[in-house]
Amino acid sequence: MKKEIILKRIALIPSFRCNLNCRLCISSSPNLPPGNDMTIEEAKKTLKLIFTLIDKLELLQISGGEPFLFKELAPMIFECFKYADRFEKFMLFTNGTVPLRDDVFEIIKQHKDKFILFISNYGLHTERFNAFIKTINKNSITYRIMNYHGDDQYFGGWVDFGEYVSYNRTPAMLSKVFHSCGQVQCGGCWQVQNGQIHWCPRSLRGTLAGFIPSRKNIDYIDIFDTETTLDEKRTALYELIHADYFLGCDYCTGDMGTNDPTKRYPAAEQKVARHRVIYE
Ligand code: SF4
Ligand code: SF4
Repeated sequence: MKKEIILKRIALIPSFRCNLNCRLCISSSPNLPPGNDMTIEEAKKTLKLIFTLIDKLELLQISGGEPFLFKELAPMIFECFKYADRFEKFMLFTNGTVPLRDDVFEIIKQHKDKFILFISNYGLHTERFNAFIKTINKNSITYRIMNYHGDDQYFGGWVDFGEYVSYNRTPAMLSKVFHSCGQVQCGGCWQVQNGQIHWCPRSLRGTLAGFIPSRKNIDYIDIFDTETTLDEKRTALYELIHADYFLGCDYCTGDMGTNDPTKRYPAAEQKVARHRVIYE
């Protein structure tokens, strides 16, 4: 019998570029060169393969970096909504500090029924943030704000995922880290870029940057891989979804599963970056 591939959510990552400079960014946007942005052709190919491989998906997402910096965001959303009958809701994550462009605004309005904007409020660039909220309010766009500043931060603030170094954990320790992680307990924060589908942003970024050993079709699925058939990719994805852990968890503090309040930090502390590349 065919095994069903069911995912709660998956996010396309058009780009790792960001206008902010957060010290503990899970995608290391301020600390690493951004790599290649996703092209529209790549987005089309990615979406087609995702919806060939995955039987049920609740939430299709676009995240980053800061997606509103991405010049081809509107055509990318257009491509996503060609599959509107295959997902329940569409979520776009933003820091709310980049002005809404007209082309993006128009396409959001066209798909209001399924669209939710997730906005992290870091208490930064408040004038731009307030203007952003005013515009979406005026147009009845569904949104949620996650408060990430002041004393009452969402989830008590952020955790530090640490440097990309191996902790040499045993399989039993890796399993414990994996199963206690918030990214896993919510069904996975699955992300895709460069044809790679990963469990979480940390794994995607660390593998693309070469810090985490690349074990394709074991720790992540390479949907562009020409050496494996669709059936083989499906089997590998099914196994990864039901895995006990993946190697990336050895290159992570694993603190996202912590109950220790001393391991929570104020979100979005802005820090001078080693690499900071944004669109002109
Ligand atoms: S807003 Fe901060 S956490 Fe989000 S992508 Fe940009 S640098 Fe990273
Ligand atoms: S523990 Fe594993 S799943 Fe959790 S954030 Fe780290 S790499 Fe991702």
